Amino acid sequence: MKKRSEKGRALFYTRDSGGKHETTPSEYVRWAQGRAKELGVQFSGTPDAIEAMIRSGQSVDDDLFLDFGVPGNILSREGLDSLLKTVLNDASISHVFIPRRNRLARPDHPIDGVKLEDALRRQGVTIVFMDKTLPPLKRGRRPDIAELIVAAVDYDRSSEDRRELADGDYRTDVEKPKVIRNPEEVRIIAPARFDAPVDSDRHRQLLAQLNERAGTQRGKPRSRDPKKNPLGSRAFDMSCGWPLYRQPYGERFRYLCGLYQQSHGAECSHNHVDGLTATRFVLSCVRQHALSP
Ligand SMILES: [Zn+2]
Repeated sequence: MKKRSEKGRALFYTRDSGGKHETTPSEYVRWAQGRAKELGVQFSGTPDAIEAMIRSGQSVDDDLFLDFGVPGNILSREGLDSLLKTVLNDASISHVFIPRRNRLARPDHPIDGVKLEDALRRQGVTIVFMDKTLPPLKRGRRPDIAELIVAAVDYDRSSEDRRELADGDYRTDVEKPKVIRNPEEVRIIAPARFDAPVDSDRHRQLLAQLNERAGTQRGKPRSRDPKKNPLGSRAFDMSCGWPLYRQPYGERFRYLCGLYQQSHGAECSHNHVDGLTATRFVLSCVRQHALSP
């Protein structure tokens, strides 16, 4: 085996399960660039490159290795596997930058996280985290027990801040994922590096309104494909003035008074038009208008 260099090439690895804080991977790469300069090692990763990887779903790009949208208790993942393989095959790699232990793994068993670190360090590689640096492990030397305990505790904690799913977090009616939200205290919050594009008070009002709507509009069928809803918000009930909402009706669809639906029939009548008929009617009006303006 070729001798591993002490100051050669550096690789970067991170993992993100949520995809909600997309700005952090590029911040992490910026940190790695700074550390590489301090340590005098070669590192080609850039914040732009990792953003492009996130957009394209790529897990390897030169010195950057990424697993995006992968939970930390899954230990075999494309980016991490490629990282380990690259370290094994390229003796010029001397350092691996990983922002934090929980980016490497949130293992179901803490020892699995320690073993991952060991695999890298036994190859003669230094692991650089934001808060600590772990030198290579010398062959035949017993590992430092204090260090092992700290690592095990770190990995044990890193798996704890995963959201525990309760029974109510699963949908029982249909085979669809349910959107759940972490409680306020375990949310990850990072300071924004730009001014808020909207007024924060108005934003709060908007969220309150949306939350309220989530209560009354829940389960109302709607089409995300505009072709299937050509008259969406364009047909109105002439007796009450409300828009007519698209509603599946057997094999067809129709537009039904919004107020009637909203008030469960209390405030308006069951006014509706057949979807296809209404659409044909509007199209023929458009045609007539276009042909003889
Ligand atoms: Zn009506």
